[in-house]
Amino acid sequence: MSLPYRRILLKLSGEALMGDLAFGIDNAVVKRIADEIAQVVALGVEIGVVVGGGNIFRGVSLAAKGADRVTGDQMGMLATVMNALALEGAINNTGCNARVMSAVGMPTICETFTHRKALKHLENHRVLIFAGGTGNPFFTTDSGAALRAVEMQCDALLKATQVDGIYTADPNKDPDAVRFDRISHQEVLSRGLQVMDTAAVSLAKDNNIPVVVFSIHEPGGLVEVAQGRGTATIVS
Ligand code: UDP
Repeated sequence: MSLPYRRILLKLSGEALMGDLAFGIDNAVVKRIADEIAQVVALGVEIGVVVGGGNIFRGVSLAAKGADRVTGDQMGMLATVMNALALEGAINNTGCNARVMSAVGMPTICETFTHRKALKHLENHRVLIFAGGTGNPFFTTDSGAALRAVEMQCDALLKATQVDGIYTADPNKDPDAVRFDRISHQEVLSRGLQVMDTAAVSLAKDNNIPVVVFSIHEPGGLVEVAQGRGTATIVS
């Protein structure tokens, strides 16, 4: 079977791990996602995962209450490490080999990101979970995902969202919203479509990385899009 992507970068928001909870991590949801990641590995695809932290903490929420934004963002980056550890455990439970690398050094908990070691993990077919976003405040894990996708020479960035692609407007609020099958990076930027932040889309555009936007709620959806099938919007 010929696969469209040899190596992919999956972006999972913190919200994706939350399920129907109002906060935190739903273990059943994490297990389902881990099972799907293991199925993608079984196809022979190398996979890196960038996890968000919005289910636990976002820097802007602290800044909105008058506190320091940098401190808030540091707390947000720590939240991504918690999610990464939860996902690592669930993937290891499937029998697959997962590793967490953090952009923020915390060597008693996980490896610190280095380009060379990260590439080795991927080449050895380990699921590599990138925690800590870019390691810098004022960025998001979407930007972290685009950055790692470029650095790790991924063939595509798979962005798991709440809906099955990019729409002209939020389909949960606007019944007239129309879904795109394909769209260019430039059009996503010029139309101001809310799929990833502009820094992330720009980085993907400048480095010719296709972005595949699909629903995390569709069972088996990840396995389908990893094979170039299923319902998704392809940004290229
Ligand atoms: N964050 C940061 N730098 C980064 C990535 C993340 O400061 O490179 C912080 C920021 O406060 C952000 C939080 O971590 O709000 C959680 O990340 P994000 O909002 O991207 O998570 P998601 O929305 O994907 O769950």
